[in-house]
Amino acid sequence: MPRFHLTSIRARIDRTAAIWCDACGGDRTAEVCDGRRRLAVGSVAVLPWSRGTGHVRCTTCDERHPTAVLDVMTSAELAERLDALTRILTVMVVRTGDPSDRVLRRRAVQHVRTAVPGYHQNQLDIDMVALDPATVAPHVEPLADALDTSGKERVVANLVHVALAAHTISSHQRWLIDRVGRSLGLTPVHVSGIIAAAAASVEPIAEDPADRP
Ligand SMILES: [Zn+2]
Repeated sequence: MPRFHLTSIRARIDRTAAIWCDACGGDRTAEVCDGRRRLAVGSVAVLPWSRGTGHVRCTTCDERHPTAVLDVMTSAELAERLDALTRILTVMVVRTGDPSDRVLRRRAVQHVRTAVPGYHQNQLDIDMVALDPATVAPHVEPLADALDTSGKERVVANLVHVALAAHTISSHQRWLIDRVGRSLGLTPVHVSGIIAAAAASVEPIAEDPADRP
């Protein structure tokens, strides 16, 4: 009889994926195993073996996570989504207000530039055609689990600041801001509080290169 050394049961690695590892605290590469296992001799997989539970293993700290960790955004994904959302929501604030108001447009372009450097007035016009405020919820909802309360409040307050460049919030803008808050899981009372606080802190803005087309 041949002697088998180093026989082991190995999880089959299907692929690698980027995850947020809360064990070692960062965006990491992880090995994804769907539960299929193999009997291995040395490093060679020789036979299928009974199925285990799927898991995801951080290659940095070796921590095993349930596969649900794949649904959690990495910090890089979250930052990218937030930048895209800043652009989308700001455009919708202008479209639901007075799109011809120069001061409103200026403030909007200034704000989008914090996320998308080089953004300008012509892009704002193109985006306004493309982005229908009625479709706002699906843009916002994926961030509801990823943002903490202060992050959600910041998203809403930023919209109020942009809208108030025109010194008032139109009923359509108010509808939009409410819808954004609700999509983030905030209550209507909470949203009203954020609007009141943001309105109290608004300062006048100076002339800016964002005016230029
Ligand atoms: Zn880790």
